[in-house]
Amino acid sequence: MPWAFSSSSTVRAADTRPLVEDEGRYLNYPIFTFDEQKLFETYRIVMKAGSALSTQPHMKGVVEYVTVFSGEVDITVAGDQVRLTKGDSIRFAADVPHAYQNSGEETAERLEASLRAAGPVTELLKADPDPEALLRAALPGLALEVLEKRPIAYRCDCSRERMERALISLGREELRAMIDEQGSAELTCRFCDNVQRFSREELEALLASC
Ligand SMILES: [Zn+2]
Repeated sequence: MPWAFSSSSTVRAADTRPLVEDEGRYLNYPIFTFDEQKLFETYRIVMKAGSALSTQPHMKGVVEYVTVFSGEVDITVAGDQVRLTKGDSIRFAADVPHAYQNSGEETAERLEASLRAAGPVTELLKADPDPEALLRAALPGLALEVLEKRPIAYRCDCSRERMERALISLGREELRAMIDEQGSAELTCRFCDNVQRFSREELEALLASC
């Protein structure tokens, strides 16, 4: 029952804070923002005269619904431009580059709703493992600027030296008993399963350094 709401929510214009683009001329006021259950969000966007914003393609399945309620807005979707004035609406698949421009003399306002066919984050990543695509999905209507990229890796900072310190921290008595009873030691890192073996001679050397 995706459209069954248990209560109503009122958002006052005075309580919304804009996301500012285009040097303060493009103000995006989030109204109802995306959540994983509803896959739907709305924004009120105020475009001062001359302002413009280009948007990278959103994920496949994202559809934007736009209604202009004052001024004029030129909308370009995959190279095709259409001018909307007060009361006009457009709906388009937003998985292509699109841009909004106020080429009129007055401030324009529009309501923008976007609906996603996409599901949870794990599904989104399966469909497109590019993390930039995920960011674009999370920031619809905003120009995204990547400031830095870093490789990520599954790794552990364990080392033989760290395991030696762990052995030393057992104390002389424990270490002595280990040498006498087992003759050697095999330590496995609980995080990465890295195995380090210590011979009797190595354990004796560690004991001597205790
Ligand atoms: Zn490890």
